[in-house]
Amino acid sequence: MTAFTPPFCARVSCIHHEPKNHSPYQAYRPWGFYHTKTFGKVPRYRCNSCGKTFSRQTFSLDYYAKRILSYQDIVQRLSSCESLSAIGRALVSSTDTISNRISRAARQALALSSTFSSSIHPDEDLAADGFESFCHSQYFPNNITLLVGASSQYVYAADHVTLRRKGRMTKVQKKKRAELETRWKARPGGIEHSFRRIADEAIRVYAQGRRSPLTLWTDEHQSYAMALTHSPHHALLIESGFLRHQVVSSRAARTTSNPLFPVNYLDRELRKDLHEHVRETVCFGRNVNRQMERLSVYLLWHNTIKRHRAREGPRKNVEMTGCTTEVDMEELKHIWVWRAWRSLTELSDAMRETWERLRDTPLSRKPDYLPRYALM
Ligand SMILES: [Zn+2]
Repeated sequence: MTAFTPPFCARVSCIHHEPKNHSPYQAYRPWGFYHTKTFGKVPRYRCNSCGKTFSRQTFSLDYYAKRILSYQDIVQRLSSCESLSAIGRALVSSTDTISNRISRAARQALALSSTFSSSIHPDEDLAADGFESFCHSQYFPNNITLLVGASSQYVYAADHVTLRRKGRMTKVQKKKRAELETRWKARPGGIEHSFRRIADEAIRVYAQGRRSPLTLWTDEHQSYAMALTHSPHHALLIESGFLRHQVVSSRAARTTSNPLFPVNYLDRELRKDLHEHVRETVCFGRNVNRQMERLSVYLLWHNTIKRHRAREGPRKNVEMTGCTTEVDMEELKHIWVWRAWRSLTELSDAMRETWERLRDTPLSRKPDYLPRYALM
């Protein structure tokens, strides 16, 4: 970090805010130093154009942090079914500190996913399905719809919705549900709404990709077909033959030849790798936004760090998407050093909800806190 030069001005409205590779930012001057226990002597700068002052730490992933922890270690542990408490114990930190680092890592994961979505040109079909879990209590089940590459197992998108508890319940449980619903009620038609957003992402993959027509595989859930027929542009793409929606029974054998294998595989992986989704766990998610942050970090690990197959060489899922040369894997080296900026990151609606912590946690009394710099 000694040979640091500011890549751009830290003021979002400044004309020098956007980094330009062909003409690096030079309209700044050194503006002294300050000292911190953790990061030592930190240089400051002042923009000649807008007068904004900022420091090296403004660009650091550890902006405002008081302690250095290894992000790679936390990501690896989180994706290996360690609970927040276990990670905290191992790294001699509080669970709040670990959660803080996971939030930072999640924003990095979303930014990297956004970079990849514009730089990879997939040549594969897609499969989508909902992963069922819960947050806060089992009275608030949720559905996380995943859009996965048929051959790469790369996860292109994930969308979350909290559902109304259904299924067999005792009289006492029904009474409790009715009482809770006077305080918080899930929005009806949640799965259809969520799947429509996933279908939008499938169209984005189609537009970026090299496969035409593109086949989207799902199970026979009625909401999926309804989402596609109720949306004029999806219906038009299907009618014109650019998008094909194929269904498979969810009771079909869960083998590798099943077109839903990619989502079935993800379902199994999430259930065993993320502690909060393990059946009968006591470490379940308490906050929807934090749950989605952890999922974003897990998906970063799944897409870009773990091997596609344990016995088939070192290739990652992102490298299996059909185009490897344009993927800038160099990005990965800097991801745990310099923070991604919201103002410079294009996000889908679902990703924005995760980054900005916009989702509603059942029975939560106030919106989730988000540091102001995370919106810069
Ligand atoms: Zn400026």
